[in-house]
Formats: sequence, C-alpha cells, structure tokens
Amino acid sequence: MRQPSPHKERLIDCVMRVTAVRMNSFAEAFLAGASGCIGTCECGLTFYAPNGSWDWEDGELERYQTDPKKYIAVDVDSVCHVEFRGHSYVVDCTCWHDAANEYIVTITHDRAAIARFFALERARMKRLAESFPEIQP
Ligand SMILES: [Zn+2]
Repeated sequence: MRQPSPHKERLIDCVMRVTAVRMNSFAEAFLAGASGCIGTCECGLTFYAPNGSWDWEDGELERYQTDPKKYIAVDVDSVCHVEFRGHSYVVDCTCWHDAANEYIVTITHDRAAIARFFALERARMKRLAESFPEIQP
C-alpha cells in the first residue's frame, strides 16, 4: 500500500489550520451579543455551561447531566451564539460550519460587489432622507 506523501499531509494540515482560523474569525464577527447558561441551536440541540457561575435551580443541572443526548455540556463558562442569514446557532455546535463556509466563500468572492451595493444603498437612503421636509421642533 502506498504511503501518503509527507507534502500532501503538510498541505492538508495547513488547509485545516487556515480553515479553523477563518472559522474563528467568522464566529467572532457574527457573534451574537447575548450569552447564557443554556441555549438551543437552530438544529434543535441544546447546550449548557456547567462550569459557569450560574444559579441553577434545584435539580436543573442534574437533569441536563443525566440526558446527554438531549443536553450537551460545553467546556466554557457560557453558551454563545453566532447569528447569520437570520438564524441563531450555538458556537459549540458544528451544524453551522458548512453554511458558514459557503457564506465565507460568497462574501469573500463578491466583496467588491457587496461594497458597491452598500455604497449605492447609502446614496439612495441619503437622497431619500434629504427629500423629506425638515420639521422644526
Ligand atoms: Zn446546531
């Protein structure tokens, strides 16, 4: 059996590191403002943060811990969300990674057109605002 080329392994490792860094940048850019002790992802999975300093109700944490198929513990102090395309995903879930990668490709590939779109919309909204009569208080 043929051994994989060390160059190919290094290339795959490099691509995986770049992808992870890019995904971290995406998550940071699209991070929602609120976080909490528990949160449900767009896919339906519920995540909780047992290590945070939260005031759990009696038996609440034990209920989550005894049903690991329904409740997934995260290894951070709080459950955070990323929001894009009108959906909210738990950062620690992986369900949003494919959609995020597609979105990254789109916004990276079309960034010049997206910038022109916002410039045109800004100009249009400015003209619209200037067409309204000024009202004195
Ligand atoms: Zn999910």
